[in-house]
Amino acid sequence: MQPQAAAPARWQRLWREAVRDPRELLGMLELPEAAVALSDDAAAEFPLRVPRGFVARMRKGDPHDPLLRQVLPLDEELRPMPGFALDAVGDAAAKAGTGVIRKYRGRALLIATGSCAVHCRYCFRRHFPYGQETAAAAGWRQTVDLIRRDASIDEVILSGGDPWSLATDKLAELTRALAEIPHLKRLRVHTRLPVVLPERVDEALVGWIAALPWPLTVVIHANHANEFDAAVDAALARLRDAGAALLNQAVLLRGVNDDVEALAALSERAFAAGVLPYYLHQLDRVQGAGHFEVDDVRARALHAALAARLSGYLVPRLVREVAGDPGKRPL
Ligand SMILES: *Cc1c(COP(=O)(O)O)cnc(C)c1O
Ligand code: SF4
Repeated sequence: MQPQAAAPARWQRLWREAVRDPRELLGMLELPEAAVALSDDAAAEFPLRVPRGFVARMRKGDPHDPLLRQVLPLDEELRPMPGFALDAVGDAAAKAGTGVIRKYRGRALLIATGSCAVHCRYCFRRHFPYGQETAAAAGWRQTVDLIRRDASIDEVILSGGDPWSLATDKLAELTRALAEIPHLKRLRVHTRLPVVLPERVDEALVGWIAALPWPLTVVIHANHANEFDAAVDAALARLRDAGAALLNQAVLLRGVNDDVEALAALSERAFAAGVLPYYLHQLDRVQGAGHFEVDDVRARALHAALAARLSGYLVPRLVREVAGDPGKRPL
């Protein structure tokens, strides 16, 4: 007899039910195919994936919906763009071991897993060789040993992919091993799940957070105010109640959030949900994402207009990731 696997959590079922067919997505939004320049080739290269709850936040009948634009595979992705590369942020060069990136001083970035609940078309990791490179796939031991041997590391950043796509007991396995390393002081998780699949923040995850021996910072990723709804608010409240500090990073994206109104609304909406704006990233110049780029002159102007309008703590830092730099480069 096969050993019985634990019953999947509700979020895992919702994860599997994500929309993967671009034509089904258009149907749900009552959009005729002629309204968008859908690309099957782009979808073959980096498949569509979007949880149904996120689709429900898109406006019906609007081909320019800012949430739809982030996930729909379009012809524009196949247009060759000079300067847009496969490894846009130099991850290959910064690799210190399987699934560990030592690019930032004092911090170890752990590529915990390659999976994401949503596939963002602008993602700088859309070409990352996840199969071989994730720490979970390699078993944690090598990763944990590497961090143990380097006393200059005081913060572990779980990234990916989406680290919270791992089952909670898998996460607990990792943090139990990390808890034995005396020089670690902080844990950070970079995740889009509380926004795109808020059901992920379930009782088990909250229990995991409560048992951590370090302060936890959760950096969520929302690019537009419409990405928040009551379920997202509730998930974020559970995280805060468990003691996590919440920050948001966004990417400046043409046709999604490249105007002052949209950026101000994003900061205000995030704050209302208990999240402070952290970074506004200039797009990583990754192949297939060129049509999302906002040039630096406009980016700076938008950022200045935002600063003139909002309380200082609602203004994210405008930054770019530069290969080989020890940290984010302010624009
Ligand atoms: C920038 C970045 C970091 C390091 O972040 P800081 O907030 O600058 O310390 C870690 N992970 C990812 C994915 C990043 O983009
Ligand atoms: S959730 Fe993050 S890592 Fe995953 S596809 Fe979107 S931007 Fe990329």
